[in-house]
Amino acid sequence: MSKQVRVAIITIGDEILYGQTLDTNSQWLSIELDKAGFSLVHKATVGDKEEDIVQALDFAGRQADIILITGGLGPTADDLTKPVLARYFGVELVPNEAALQELKELFRQIKRELTDINIAQTHLPANASHITNRLGTAPGIWIEENGKVYVSMPGVPHEMKAMMSEQVLPRLKEKFHVPEVVHKMIKTIGIGESWLAEKIAPWEQQLPKEIKLAYLPSPGQVKLRLTMSGHDPDAMRRAIDEQVQRLQPYAGKYIYGYDQDEIEQVIGDLLRKQQQTLATAESCTGGYLAHLITSVAGSSDYYRGSIIAYANEIKEKELGVSAVTLQKHGAVSEETVKAMAEGVKRRLGTDYGLATSGIAGPGGGTPDKPVGTIWIAVAHPHGTATKLLNLFKNREVNIRLTAIFTLGLLWRILTRKD
Ligand code: AMP
Ligand code: MG
Repeated sequence: MSKQVRVAIITIGDEILYGQTLDTNSQWLSIELDKAGFSLVHKATVGDKEEDIVQALDFAGRQADIILITGGLGPTADDLTKPVLARYFGVELVPNEAALQELKELFRQIKRELTDINIAQTHLPANASHITNRLGTAPGIWIEENGKVYVSMPGVPHEMKAMMSEQVLPRLKEKFHVPEVVHKMIKTIGIGESWLAEKIAPWEQQLPKEIKLAYLPSPGQVKLRLTMSGHDPDAMRRAIDEQVQRLQPYAGKYIYGYDQDEIEQVIGDLLRKQQQTLATAESCTGGYLAHLITSVAGSSDYYRGSIIAYANEIKEKELGVSAVTLQKHGAVSEETVKAMAEGVKRRLGTDYGLATSGIAGPGGGTPDKPVGTIWIAVAHPHGTATKLLNLFKNREVNIRLTAIFTLGLLWRILTRKD
């Protein structure tokens, strides 16, 4: 395997440090660098303070081959990056003719007079070359010292992104021979992270060491990411696909898709293929399930609609849940949720009916039905499946999880995975 090219990111600005502005720059840069095959090894945020910037430069310089800096390039006194870089490398700030010409051209286009402050923006550290800023007045800076590349870019996100994509990244790729990176995301539903890890342990142990495995849990789902880097993407893709095949006996019944697949879209594709239809009856999810289903373009092919039956009266009147069932078992019960799913399937004339009813919290729990007690049901052409979820004290989390688990149960039935 070829040598890694190590990158560090430093974002500069008091407003970033104090959290008034969210540091979206480093997130965006990280994704772009990863896609391009660079190895990100360090990220730091520092305020507009010389000694902190210097310390960050020292540390990043020890860790990485490339140091990317954003922020602090503005024309005002609080923006320090340029003078600090000059002092850091023991050079003066000097007029940069190429940067000045570009700025003059920009001002001609926008028909404005160049001010002294603007001209000062084209004074760069003597060891730097300028990087064109197509969208603003502060040029970027490219410095090569001690075999390392230091790049300083504006903090304004759209200026930084254009500069990075159009100029910095192509230059870095040319200078450093970076390996390609191939990722494959395997998406599972209906099993927790630790149970999945246990089931796939034998597979994990036989993975070749060039293939890295990461567990990425998100509410109700676990994603497995396989990553490989090298110089032959086709061979890497084949090696990864072979491992995906080998995984099937261990986890196939939990895998609903790969890469960009989402559960709501996978379910939609299955329903469309089988020419079947779906309706929802929602109590505790209050329409969130319907929202997820209708987020998929083309969902009108199979989705008929929802009845949000929050009050018992609506469960009775609109879904045909009997007063006796509600009285005897309560709204949060297997009997009620089953009747809701069957009721909406009948009422909307669909092949499948989904229902949710539970105590989302944070209040409303009782000793025998604590917050997080949630029933879900899927009425299907051959019967009705129900499931009790024992979730958390957090309302928002419970709503999301309930919707995902309900879609998971439907997927299991549609694919006959049990
Ligand atoms: P500066 O280059 O420090 O003058 O920053 C200009 C503007 O860019 C700031 O006011 C912020 O709104 C924005 N900005 C700076 N750094 C970041 C960052 N890391 N992420 C997102 N926005 C940023
Ligand atoms: Mg700033």
